[in-house]
Amino acid sequence: MKLHFVGHDYKYVAEQSLLALFPQERPVYGQVDPAEDRRWAVITIEDRENACTVTTELGWDGKSAPFSLTVPLTGDDYAREGQRRRAIGMSFFRAAQAVTGIAPPWGSLTGIRPVKVATELREEGKTWEETDEILRDTYFVTPQRRRLCLDAARAAEEADRDRDLRDFSLYVGIPFCPTRCAYCSFVSNSVEKSFHLVEPYLETLAREIQSAGEMVRDLGLRLKSFYMGGGTPTTLSADQMGRLLDTLYANFDFSGAVERTVEAGRPDTITREKLEVLKAHGVDRISVNPQTMEDHVLRAIGRRHTAADIEATMETVAAVGFPHVNMDLIAGLPEDTPEGFSRSLRRVLDFGTDNLTVHTLSLKKGSRITLEGSRIPSVEEVGEMLDFADPALRQAGFLPYYLYRQKYQSGSFENAGWCRSGGEGWYNIYIMEELHSILSLGGGGSTKMVDRAANRIERAFNLKYPLEYTQRPEKFLENQQAFRTFCHRMLMRTEQSRKP
Ligand code: SF4
Repeated sequence: MKLHFVGHDYKYVAEQSLLALFPQERPVYGQVDPAEDRRWAVITIEDRENACTVTTELGWDGKSAPFSLTVPLTGDDYAREGQRRRAIGMSFFRAAQAVTGIAPPWGSLTGIRPVKVATELREEGKTWEETDEILRDTYFVTPQRRRLCLDAARAAEEADRDRDLRDFSLYVGIPFCPTRCAYCSFVSNSVEKSFHLVEPYLETLAREIQSAGEMVRDLGLRLKSFYMGGGTPTTLSADQMGRLLDTLYANFDFSGAVERTVEAGRPDTITREKLEVLKAHGVDRISVNPQTMEDHVLRAIGRRHTAADIEATMETVAAVGFPHVNMDLIAGLPEDTPEGFSRSLRRVLDFGTDNLTVHTLSLKKGSRITLEGSRIPSVEEVGEMLDFADPALRQAGFLPYYLYRQKYQSGSFENAGWCRSGGEGWYNIYIMEELHSILSLGGGGSTKMVDRAANRIERAFNLKYPLEYTQRPEKFLENQQAFRTFCHRMLMRTEQSRKP
């Protein structure tokens, strides 16, 4: 679709709207000629002092329609930016709806955090009913998604209850996997090819943990939750995992942490010995991610294990015993069908875990299956899968507690974490609702610094690949310095504001 902007350059939000509503379209930029161009949109912003008018005129296969709306601009520059961006999303959506009749699940909401819209409305003092009405009447969110959103917003309020300015969560990344899944877009090295990098990686990580621990003690921060992800952390041997956890405990105070999660991930990496090590080190939440229980789908995505292996792994997990276990499924995997997905969900529910995450396939450029042209379920089929999952999970006693959306996600749906009461993965809520800073260690670590009072978020990224991460430790030291400065300023400002 050809896009043309007048009076602004909000490329990102326009592209988000385009991808959310028409995932098969790709943006191109330039002057629109309605006689020549088949699909196009002209988005115009007129700013006045305390309001802006956004007009989108959208053309689709010979039909076109304009939609105009004026929104008040209030608050600081950051808040006004958000209001302009939302207005663009709404006007684009209404023009697209008028021309094509589309009714996407999340209406005009295009961001990755739809729950934030609800939590912000609640912070403004809206009741749950009023919040629901705004999601319906202003953003055109469908009833099923409004319910998901409000349930997740309730969990976010719960997670935010005993907040402290000094809270932070710790993430440690292990960017290795036994083999690479076909749909993977993470920077994850298959250990077959990079086994020799694991030990040097762990040595560098130990140095990063040491200096980060020192910084956290200097600042007086409080570790609220811990998450080890990847890649697949259980690609490490039991001995390597034990050493890594010992280093973490020696350098951080875990006494106030509400949870310690390790993504066990792929069943082909899980052994009883590794689970025993996790248990002995106080890990209270693990995640086993079969993605599907259909063998032909596992083969299609490049997994080298079967559904029977997952069952055997879950028996071992139950025997070792963890307070919380999450399992991940993906709706929309290549070669899957709504019937296959329902079978997978029912089989996974039989394991009796207290946490289940239902992802929707997101195919980024470069994922192998996009190149190999496997049969990918249609948007309608993915919709059927999710329509099955929602009531089945509710009936089994689960409620959604966090969710997010991704670019290139099939049908513009969502990934949603579901849990039985008390099974919430708090780290997932903290990071998704941006309730406090996340300090990320390891290759590819993405540290997010959150200053809620000042409405400020900054990010610092570690080097992505294990080899460059081990070769250039100065990069993580630089990121730690940025984290230190950010937190120090935030704490100083608060202290000063408290002085009489
Ligand atoms: S397990 Fe996850 S990180 Fe590893 S290759 Fe598969 S999708 Fe990528």
